[in-house]
Amino acid sequence: MIEGNIMHTAGLGRPDAARALEGRVAIVTGSTSGIGLAIAAALAADGASIVINGLGDHADVENLCHVLGARYDVSTRYDAADLARPGAVVDMVDRTVRAFGPVDILVSNAGIQHVAPIEEFAPERWDAILAVNLSAVFHATRAVLPEMKQRGWGRIINVASAHGLVGSAFKSAYVAAKHGVVGLTKVTALETAEFGITCNAVCPGYVWTPLVERQVAAQAAAHGISPEDVVRTVMLAEQPTKRFATVEEIAGTVRFLCSAVAASVTGAAIAVDGGWTAH
Ligand code: NAD
Repeated sequence: MIEGNIMHTAGLGRPDAARALEGRVAIVTGSTSGIGLAIAAALAADGASIVINGLGDHADVENLCHVLGARYDVSTRYDAADLARPGAVVDMVDRTVRAFGPVDILVSNAGIQHVAPIEEFAPERWDAILAVNLSAVFHATRAVLPEMKQRGWGRIINVASAHGLVGSAFKSAYVAAKHGVVGLTKVTALETAEFGITCNAVCPGYVWTPLVERQVAAQAAAHGISPEDVVRTVMLAEQPTKRFATVEEIAGTVRFLCSAVAASVTGAAIAVDGGWTAH
C-alpha cells in the first residue's frame, strides 16, 4: 500500500535530476502517508537524506524507506516517534543528528482531524489535535533551531491548512491548531531571519488523502447529508477549482521553499487551495 503510494509520487523527480539538496538532512513528520509521503519523495529526489516519521506497520514503513532510498540513492531511516509526546519529538531530532548529522530541513506535516460540533467535541480529542497539529511543531522547531542558527542555514516548513486562514463549522480544534501553526510560523521566521533560515506555512485546500477520506462519513453525520453531498456541497463547494489538490502539488511547493531562489520567502502562509481563501 505504502509502496504503491511512493510509486505514485515517482513523477516528482527523476533519480538523475539536479540534486539541489545533496548533503542536506530532512525530517518529514507524518510521512508514512498522504502529503508527507509525497514531500519525502520530492526532497529525496533532490538528494536529501530523509527521516520518515509517522504511524504505520513497521515492516511496511521500513520497506518504504528501502524503496525511497534505492530509487533516489539517498539515505533514509524510519523514526516512529509519537508526536503527541513532546519528549518523543525531541528524541527523534536527537536520533536524527546521531544517525545523519544536524537537521537542515524540518517539515512539520503530521496532522489529525476530528469533526463534531463544539458542544459534542470530546476534550481528549481537542487535546490530541492540539498536541499533534500544533505543539509538536513547536517542540520540533525548538529542537532543530540551535544547530540551524549555528550553521547559518535552515528550512522550516509547516504544513498548515486553508483552515489556518479561515474557519469551517465542526472543526474547532483543527482550525484553532492550524491558525496557531500560521502564527508560530511568523514568529519563527522573525526570530531566524538573520540566520539564513526561512520558515513558512503551506496551506492546502482539500487534497484527496486518507485524512480526507476518513472525514467524509463523519462530515455526513455532522451535516446530516450523504457522503456524495459532503464531497460536492461541503468539501469542494469552497474550492473554486472544483477538484481536490494533488499531493504532488503540495510537495512541489515544499520543494520550492527548500530551493535557493526561495531564500527571501519567509513568514509566509502560502495557500495551495484552488482559490478557496480568495473568496
Ligand atoms: P494522512 O492521514 O494521510 O497523513 C497524516 C500523517 O500523520 C500520517 O503519516 C500519520 O501516521 C501521521 N501521524 C498522525 N498522528 C501522528 C502521531 N501522533 N505521531 C506521528 N505521526 C502521526 O493526512 P494528510 O492529508 O496527508 O495530512 C498531512 C497534513 O496536511 C496534515 O497536517 C493535515 O492537517 C494537512 N492538510 C491536509 C489536507 C487534506 O485535504 N488532505 C488539507 C489541508 C491540510
